[in-house]
Amino acid sequence: MTPIAFVNRLPPTDEAIWLEALAAAMPELALRRLGDLTETERALVEIAIVANPDPADLGRLPNLKWVHSTWAGVERLVSELGAAAPPIIRLVDPELARTMAEAVLAWTYYLSRDMPAYAHAQRERRWAPRAYRHTQETTVGLLGLGALGAAAAPRLGDAGFKVTGWSRTPKELPGVTFQADLADVLAQADIVVCLTPLTAQTRGLLNAERLAQMKPGAALINFARGPIVVTDDLLAALDAGRLSHAVLDVFDTEPLPASSPLWDHPAVTVLPHISAVTDRRTASLIVADNIRRYLDHGVIPQAVDFGRGY
Ligand code: NAP
Repeated sequence: MTPIAFVNRLPPTDEAIWLEALAAAMPELALRRLGDLTETERALVEIAIVANPDPADLGRLPNLKWVHSTWAGVERLVSELGAAAPPIIRLVDPELARTMAEAVLAWTYYLSRDMPAYAHAQRERRWAPRAYRHTQETTVGLLGLGALGAAAAPRLGDAGFKVTGWSRTPKELPGVTFQADLADVLAQADIVVCLTPLTAQTRGLLNAERLAQMKPGAALINFARGPIVVTDDLLAALDAGRLSHAVLDVFDTEPLPASSPLWDHPAVTVLPHISAVTDRRTASLIVADNIRRYLDHGVIPQAVDFGRGY
């Protein structure tokens, strides 16, 4: 049986846990660590399952037809492998989308119910009730209406929030007012949630000019990738009081260095990249299904478009 290679740069314990989950999802297939394959076996491999792979390791698989990432964000794979790479399939998992939608709703409530202000007041032993803001008075702007943004929209809508959205191509989603112009979303939203992939077009997207287009006193949630937001420009907007708060789950460098001014900024909530963590069990089942469809019918799942970068 042609082996399926698992190529990764994970710590050994994480690699073992992934191998176990993947093997459980595809017991009939010959899943093997790259390092366990002989040269003859490596020459046969058509499919690699990858988690932060070393590009040189993929180069050791001369017959590779496609690569399945265990992650949803593939900007690193795209930049490290380059356009000559075999098709890259990213993880699209409804369970991941559900988790992200839950996080978007949770942290939107965190902001709309003024939890940062109450935490601050408590630290100062101040009894300071604030006016209640109904969800219907709060507009949430979703940047990115893909697998994750589209899952978050109905959760926000069901909670009563007004939802506007922006994506590269126009989208019709129930309950979402689509805006073709980013400036319009930024001007209308009380809370902006970033869920676009990191590409050449979105790197540095939320810079001083864009942040200045946000409604005065608005807040930002970045659950996508750190470099989409220009940190110094964000800090300037928060320091000037033009923006009220930022919830950041992703950063230019992760883990966030201890020296970062974000850690103790009063208007920043730092999260350790936890808004939507891959569920190894459901992810493995999806990877297994995609591999079976290829083995049975020769169908390679929809791949990342290198031109678009996602
Ligand atoms: P997706 O299905 O590919 O959706 C991406 C969305 O962004 C699409 O609506 C796309 O527009 C839009 N977009 C892309 N480039 C754009 C641009 N230049 N201008 C405007 N809109 C643009 O991706 P996804 O599965 O929703 O995931 C989004 C990102 O979330 C991932 O790339 C990853 O970086 C991040 N993520 C973070 C975590 C975490 O724990 N923090 C977990 C998982 C994923 P179209 O609809 O027109 O294509």
